Amino acid sequence: MSDMLLSFIPRDRTYVPAPAAREQAVEWLRAVVPTAHEVVDTVTEEIGFIDCGENWPGVCCPACGRNAEAWFGDASGEAYDRSRFRELSLTAPCCGTGVSLDALDFG
Ligand SMILES: [Zn+2]
Repeated sequence: MSDMLLSFIPRDRTYVPAPAAREQAVEWLRAVVPTAHEVVDTVTEEIGFIDCGENWPGVCCPACGRNAEAWFGDASGEAYDRSRFRELSLTAPCCGTGVSLDALDFG
């Protein structure tokens, strides 16, 4: 048996839907995916990187398409230290293009 985890994340990483809207979304998901083992609503205090765990598809630069795994971890750590993920812009080391961490190609 395999597990599938779906995470729905607002495009605006600072947006938190109202509690009633989140509950409505949970009810809707339970209705459309009745076989789901668990449907939960989670709001964190800070913006975070949602790691997909063992299903990591890799990451590539959206500008040049090269593999970005060599610099993604350090760039993520720096973005967290610098702004707690509120500012994600950086110059991609692979091609020198201005990119945003949340616009990288995660497969
Ligand atoms: Zn690049």
